[in-house]
This record gives sequence, structure tokens and C-alpha cells, in this order.
Amino acid sequence: MDPKEIIAKLQLLTGQFAEELQKQSTEQAIRDLQAAFLSKKGKIGELQKSLGQLSPDQRKDVGQAFNTAKQAITQSVADAIDGLVKRAEDVYLSEYFDVTLPGRAGAKGSMHPISIVMYDIVDVFTSMGFDVAQGPEVETDEFNFAKLNFPDDHPARDMQDTLFVEEGKILLRTHMSPVQIRSMMARPLPIQIVAPGAVFRRDDDPTHSPMFFQIEGLLVDKGVHFGHLKGVLNTFIHQIFGADVQMRVRPSFFPFTEPSVEVDIQCIYCKGEGCRLCSQTGWIEILGAGMVDPNVLEGVGIDSEIYSGFAFGLGVDRVAMLKYEGISSIKLFYENDPRFLERFRR
Ligand SMILES: [Zn+2]
Repeated sequence: MDPKEIIAKLQLLTGQFAEELQKQSTEQAIRDLQAAFLSKKGKIGELQKSLGQLSPDQRKDVGQAFNTAKQAITQSVADAIDGLVKRAEDVYLSEYFDVTLPGRAGAKGSMHPISIVMYDIVDVFTSMGFDVAQGPEVETDEFNFAKLNFPDDHPARDMQDTLFVEEGKILLRTHMSPVQIRSMMARPLPIQIVAPGAVFRRDDDPTHSPMFFQIEGLLVDKGVHFGHLKGVLNTFIHQIFGADVQMRVRPSFFPFTEPSVEVDIQCIYCKGEGCRLCSQTGWIEILGAGMVDPNVLEGVGIDSEIYSGFAFGLGVDRVAMLKYEGISSIKLFYENDPRFLERFRR
């Protein structure tokens, strides 16, 4: 064959391919057709072998014609497959979707129950003049224990209870008290703060979570006494649990307060009659508090002869469990199952 003959035959085959391509309705059929023309043993592949008979000059021109034809075929194959996909989508959409129906609204997020309760509690204290203070979650032994009057052999300083980053030195705060220390060192007197935040302990069982939320409060001024503490806590309890809820204090011990007390509220379920939730006592422990130990004040450079203060601390999870009846485990608050969180939508 001479070059003209070869090119005429190539054009014929190209036209034949285009015609055949129109008839294919699946991707596989299109790919098979492509192979039947372009593969080494395909129609165009076989024709290309006749290039061997040509002179180098002729071969160059005719070879160029082959390249152009093959590129055109490859492109038309890609376009045909795209067209198939597009048609399939259109069919799918028209079969399965009625585009005239109104849309379905997406699920909206809402505040986490712990956040709701935390904001509520903080609001009560800010309305009494407390300022919100914050501090780091990774703390030093000094701020978490030493400056709070914890003796060196206190069990809380044990690896069993505390999550250490560097044993004996750097740790995840076990309470919000380091924020009290930082506030006393940084703020001018008088000081009146609440510190809400995440705290960390090694406990991990149905009634404890290794991370939970606490709010601590501190007031330091001239002439602060126990009556002020009781007044502030009474207001808090009435605002959060109801104006008729009684409170009582029992002596207790904390390294950083003297005297120290545990504060109970009358059981909000049985109103003091005794039930399963209050272990038949009629009372539920709600927080710890006390007058700031003079050693703690002196440790941050506050003259304990002139100034005195009170501090308190409570678990947000505990308040949330009391407010939302029927929560079996504190861990539910941290698993973030939408079916659980849905209940607290506000
Ligand atoms: Zn009860």
C-alpha cells in the first residue's frame, strides 16, 4: 500500500469507529470497541503495521496521521463514558427523587448539659459580684498541691490518684484550686472569683470519670467570716435547686481551709423523707467549703492578720445529675451519644 491508500483506509476505520461508538450503551462495550480498533491486533493497530513498508519520510507523515486519529478516538471514548455516567445520574435522580418535595431540615446542635449547668452556676456567682478566672489544665505540683498546704505524703500526691506528666513535678490539675492560687498572686485585693473548668483524676468507674468539671470560688477581703460563706452558698443553692431547699453544713477536713465543711442540701426528690437517691438520709452532699487557711494566704503574700477569705468547690457533673433526674452514670455526660444529649435541648 502507498501512503495515500493507508491514510484513506485509516479515515475509513475512524469513521467506522465513530459510527459503532454511537450504538454502545455500557462502559464495558465502549472499552471493548476501543480495544477492537486501537489494540495491537485491532483494526487500526493492524493497519499501522503497514507503515513498515514505507520510506522513512513517508512514515513520518503517515505516522502523524495515526497519532492524531488515535488521540481523537481516545478522547471520544472518554466523552462517551462521561455521557453514560451523566445519563445514569439523571435517570437515578428522576426515579428516586421527587425534586418538587420540600427539603428535610438538618439536625441542629445544642448546648451540652454540662455546659448548660456550668453557665447556670457561674451566672449565679457573677450576679453576686464574682469574676470568672481561668488557668492552665497542665499544672505544677507547686500550684496544685504545695501552695495549697498539702503535706508531702498526702495521698492525692500519689501516682494512684493524680495523672502526672512528669512524676512529682508536672501534672493535670486535680482541682480548680490552682486557679485560686494564681488569682491571689496576680490580682489586687480584694479578690472575688469563680473558676470553672476541667479537672483530672485517675478514678475510672461508673461513678467517676477521669475528666470532669468543677467550679471553685474564692473571696478574700478584710473581715470575711464564715457567715459570709454561708450566705453566698445559701443564695447559690436557692437559685439552682429552688428557694425552699434547705442546706446544712458538717465539719470536714481539707488541707487548704480551716475550718472546713461539707455542705448538704435536703434531698430534692424526697424533700428530706429519705429515699434511695439520698441513701435514706434525706440529705445529699453537694460541695466542700471553708475559710482559707492562713498558711495558704501567707504563702501567696497576703497578710493573714489583715485579710481573711473563704473558698468553695463543687462538681458540675454532680449538680447536673441532681438537676436531671435518672442519669445512671456520670460517664453518659462524656460519651456524647446524640440520643442522650437530645434530652437537654434548650
Ligand atoms: Zn431522698
